[in-house]
Amino acid sequence: MKISKGSVVLFDYTLTDDDKEIIDSSKEEGALTYLHGEGQIVKGLEKAMEGRKAGDAFKITISPEEAYGIHDPAKIAVVPADQIEGGEELEEGMQLEASHGDEEQVVVVSKIEGDQVTLDGNHPLAGMNLHFEVTIREVRAATTEEIEHGHVHGPGGHAH
Ligand code: ZN
Repeated sequence: MKISKGSVVLFDYTLTDDDKEIIDSSKEEGALTYLHGEGQIVKGLEKAMEGRKAGDAFKITISPEEAYGIHDPAKIAVVPADQIEGGEELEEGMQLEASHGDEEQVVVVSKIEGDQVTLDGNHPLAGMNLHFEVTIREVRAATTEEIEHGHVHGPGGHAH
């Protein structure tokens, strides 16, 4: 069957950046499963999946606009270390949870200079072109329960 809204898709992938560095691969994590049409994978990849079937293999480059968005300078803040909980133990590359009103946001410690800490709230893959190499393993129709829950059950999916 062809992938359309309500299909459960199992696929292998390798994700690389513009320098052909591997960002992520199902070789380590195992094949990925998702419910098509629910925005569970990046927009550009979901579009490329539409109409394909098990056994199909393809390569696609996805622009930041169709992936994790452009890099937004407004999401970068420089904060004195003593204003951050656990500030004395910070290291570059660490991820912190910041609360913004009642919203929780993950920020990355992108730079530490003296007692000034640069926090970046952009997604780590924001602003990047994503190069996917995909092989579709399985396509099946979602069960009524999966459609109701909006996610995949069984191997690789949720247990509830
Ligand atoms: Zn469920």
